[in-house]
Amino acid sequence: MKLSNILSNGLKGNLDSLLQSIDYDRLFVLTDTNTLKLCMPLLDIPEGVYTKICIPAGEENKTLESLSHVWQCLSHGGASRNSLLINLGGGMVTDLGGFAAATFKRGIRFVNIPTTLLAAVDAAVGGKTGIDFFGLKNEIGAFAPAEAVIIETGFFKTLDRKNFLSGYAEILKHSLIHSVEDWKKLLAFDLEDIHYNRLSDLLIDSVRIKEKIVAEDPVEKGIRKALNLGHTIGHAMESMALESGHPVLHGYAVAWGIVCELYLSMIKTGFDKNKLVQNVRFVKERYGIFSFDCKQYDRLYELMQHDKKNASSKQINFTLLKDIGRVEINQTATREEIFESLDFYREYFC
Ligand code: NAD
Repeated sequence: MKLSNILSNGLKGNLDSLLQSIDYDRLFVLTDTNTLKLCMPLLDIPEGVYTKICIPAGEENKTLESLSHVWQCLSHGGASRNSLLINLGGGMVTDLGGFAAATFKRGIRFVNIPTTLLAAVDAAVGGKTGIDFFGLKNEIGAFAPAEAVIIETGFFKTLDRKNFLSGYAEILKHSLIHSVEDWKKLLAFDLEDIHYNRLSDLLIDSVRIKEKIVAEDPVEKGIRKALNLGHTIGHAMESMALESGHPVLHGYAVAWGIVCELYLSMIKTGFDKNKLVQNVRFVKERYGIFSFDCKQYDRLYELMQHDKKNASSKQINFTLLKDIGRVEINQTATREEIFESLDFYREYFC
């Protein structure tokens, strides 16, 4: 996807001109049960011009069954290789819909219209699509870029605060890997009284950071790993929370993971302590506490060893920072250093 295909100034105008510019025979719109109610009315495409497909909301439905339902609807609706699918929803819908499109008749085109902040800044851009399988997240999938991504902050007005903050953590991550200026703007943004036009500007800058990195390294052989900051320890926390029956939102786990990985950055690549402390304060105030004790360190470590990003289970791969905007990919840390970062987290948070 070219950078110019991220559209952000007016949903109706963007969508009309996009649909006019694409030569397709049939149009399908995929939603989940929530975005059907809350977001579809904003889309304003005349009935009869498209076929609706709806899947149940929630990560537990990012399954083969939902995927099969989408394929069936495409098939029954007469979709051909020349049809177009619009994915209107959060990351669950854009991931699953993107994968359905990538595989139906060996690939039809799709457009993502993300309706959560997390999807706008992360899931809908970058071409990773897929479903969960046998309890493993994103186990089956494909790299398949959207024809275009239309970002409309108006959708986020119905998001609950937790889902809003979850997406904001990925924006924070993008600023950390990009520049001090972006990072300062993010820390200063008023999350209590959201100004949606300003959010739109932050968001577009953030998406461009991801898109630029993805354009350089679409299949994560090198610099795309920069986007993994906070995710090695964050994913382990997310999985441990899921195992304990108290799941946490992805962005929350990333925010907590960023704290630990910036600590590792401080001891291994010289990240500045004051900036670490500012991040810790920001995360603690917005995202609260993920409680665990030292008896759970071994389990967290095991989960990190199973991370898809490792070249081998003996070496856990991290993306660290020398400074804000100065990324060091392919870093490793010893078990002791990782445990030290968990100690640091607990000292500040618990
Ligand atoms: P989600 O799509 O499940 O949305 C969260 C909840 O918000 C759902 O209940 C949904 O129905 C609801 N919702 C969506 N839009 C809404 C709106 N405007 N107002 C009110 N409610 C709304 O989850 P998510 O947090 O958007 O995304 C998480 C998914 O994204 C995961 O499956 C994750 O694996 C995936 N992801 C993919 C990538 C990628 O690169 N492909 C990156 C990050 C995350």
